[in-house]
Amino acid sequence: MTLLDATHDPAARSWLASAQAAGCDFPIQNLPFAVLRPRGGGAPWRGAVAIGDQALDLAALAATGLVTGAAAEALALAAEPALNRFMGAGPAAWRALRQALFALLAEGASADAQRRVRACLIPLAEVEYTLPARIGDYTDFYTSLDHALNCMRIMRPGADVTPNFRWLPQAYHGRVSTLGVSGQQFHRPRGQWVPPGAGAPVFQPCVRMDYELELGVWVGPGNAAGRRIPLEQADAHIFGISLLNDWSARDIQVWEMTPLGPFHAKNFATTVAPWIVTLDALAPYRTAWTRPAADPQPLAYLESAANRAAGAFDVQLEVWLESEAARRAGRGPARLSGTSFRHQYWSIGQMVAHHTAGGCSLQPGDLIGSGTISGPGPGEAGAMIELAHGGQRPVEVGGGEQRGFLQDGDSVILRGWCEKPGAARIGFGECRGTVLPAVAEGG
Ligand code: CA
Repeated sequence: MTLLDATHDPAARSWLASAQAAGCDFPIQNLPFAVLRPRGGGAPWRGAVAIGDQALDLAALAATGLVTGAAAEALALAAEPALNRFMGAGPAAWRALRQALFALLAEGASADAQRRVRACLIPLAEVEYTLPARIGDYTDFYTSLDHALNCMRIMRPGADVTPNFRWLPQAYHGRVSTLGVSGQQFHRPRGQWVPPGAGAPVFQPCVRMDYELELGVWVGPGNAAGRRIPLEQADAHIFGISLLNDWSARDIQVWEMTPLGPFHAKNFATTVAPWIVTLDALAPYRTAWTRPAADPQPLAYLESAANRAAGAFDVQLEVWLESEAARRAGRGPARLSGTSFRHQYWSIGQMVAHHTAGGCSLQPGDLIGSGTISGPGPGEAGAMIELAHGGQRPVEVGGGEQRGFLQDGDSVILRGWCEKPGAARIGFGECRGTVLPAVAEGG
């Protein structure tokens, strides 16, 4: 279990003034990781940490020699153009680097250190991002009971989820080739679906385009095939968490999904935010994982006292939509919904334990989607199919526009942050993606 230390002290301040700005996602208590470079010019990609409105270039920092010992070894890995080897180095390396970066960025760092670190900063407004790791495998879970019930009720009023939902964290193996970093633009996919009242399917561009608010879980050291990760050790194999949008073609999904799961409905695009907030940074926001007494209780391999005490994370999440018209008018995005990750039926530790329980190996940099995150209340749905009741009750998106599903030109923006009395507010940045028109037939 991660413990709190001086790096979580809400009173800690950086010598970089922007780290203390109200509502800043990246105070000194956060220190999330990304892979980036100065925009344009084609410079090499390098690992970076966010602080205030700046990115600390870890390759440049490594060259200063300011970081020594075990932290220097970790820094060399985190400076690489993909974070896989740093993720694989495990919690001791992650913490050594966190402590060293905190010391260099905190008020009280020597004037000489401040001057040399300042030379390694790049304004966030002037960087471009790539995926933070070479992702070998991507698995998407389905672990929000509220999302599952909302979707079930739209398709079959009064129906419950399948019995296995309450016994195991359900998932399917996803697709890596179309994973993109925030800013991703993708064409509306074509696929088979059955128009209302039609007796046979057609092959056409999707007409029920949707998003899914999720968190991405980045795997640390991982496990060899045949060797599972027990729930008690799952935290040591989770590097951190980022925002994730699992774009979904609902019409295609309904037709193709039974009995083998999503295919064309999900494999055309998935967008992740550039910044990974570490499990260490999230330590103050751990909270109890609970299961209603009347529900099935987890089997032994999905049960632990530590998971009960602090297996859930209270991450505030929001979905915003910016239409092409809103963008042109400079109106800005409209808020669609908001919820917290703490409502999820299964914890991320349980997802890792279950993923590996049959002997499936996880490797550094693998990505796990949490599944759509919907909360219990109205306005807490993490997908438009729920908010607009399958397209039957379109939602207002500002400027007199309504949406039952997404239109071409729509950008969906996910935001996340943690905030509570007695802890520093930390944020996840944003995850943005845009739907483009379907490619012309034959294109
Ligand atoms: Ca999903």
